Amino acid sequence: MYLTLKEILKNTRKGKFAVGSFNIHCLEMVPSMIEAAKVKNSPIILQISPTTCKYIGFALLSSTVKELARETGVDVALHLDHTKDFATIKIAIDNGFSSVMIDASALSLEENIEKTKEVVKYAKEHGVSVEAELGTIGGTEDGVASNEGEIRYTSPEDAVKFVQSTGIDALAIGFGTSHGQWKSKAKLNFSVLKNIHDVIDIPLVLHGGTGVSEEDLKKCILGGISKVNIGTELNVAWVDATKKNFKNADLADSCRDLVIPSNDAVQKVIENKIDILGSSYK
Ligand SMILES: [Zn+2]
Repeated sequence: MYLTLKEILKNTRKGKFAVGSFNIHCLEMVPSMIEAAKVKNSPIILQISPTTCKYIGFALLSSTVKELARETGVDVALHLDHTKDFATIKIAIDNGFSSVMIDASALSLEENIEKTKEVVKYAKEHGVSVEAELGTIGGTEDGVASNEGEIRYTSPEDAVKFVQSTGIDALAIGFGTSHGQWKSKAKLNFSVLKNIHDVIDIPLVLHGGTGVSEEDLKKCILGGISKVNIGTELNVAWVDATKKNFKNADLADSCRDLVIPSNDAVQKVIENKIDILGSSYK
């Protein structure tokens, strides 16, 4: 079934599991992503950056994902990842996305609240969920987290004010993870997570999941993380398989046959993550 983010994360806190939110990098990989969830009997969130949305097309994406959800019977949410401008968010909502993320985390708390409230109002009118961010998630250099000093942990006091004033459905927090990290592992601050979890009752989101070890992912879920974002690892798997497949390709080879192993590689990564996150239906 095609669900909102709020619906798909509904039982995560009580059930002590997280639902994986996996980045679509190209349209080719989408059926394999949903197939992974089907094999594991798990819900799945497919998320996509504004840049990739423009590459594939908002309408094509949402119609493809909705049709695959209907065909396979898998519970799927389609989520717009990190977006700063309301215009792009509006396009996603108008094209049938079931969830969006407004990322105004670089602004002051007051400005972040104002921008997020504007998005929540429009999204709620259309039955769409909203994720927002407070604090900062790090960046990387060549796959290695490079800016520990730049990570601003989310403050629990600010989080309470933010969630109460905006009415969001899920909160992305900064507690040591970094985007694009795949050659090293993140150093997480579990007490920051605990302090936020103690005072916030909506689902909490971990960004930069590729850079978190399996052991730490499990600890995060026990500590109250409901949604785990995995993007980089899928891109790495797809490109790695593609490099191998195309190396000895003959010009007469079918391009379809050449990308099947790349899509299979993505499926394998997702199946493994679902096991770690514990999201298979009991
Ligand atoms: Zn992110």
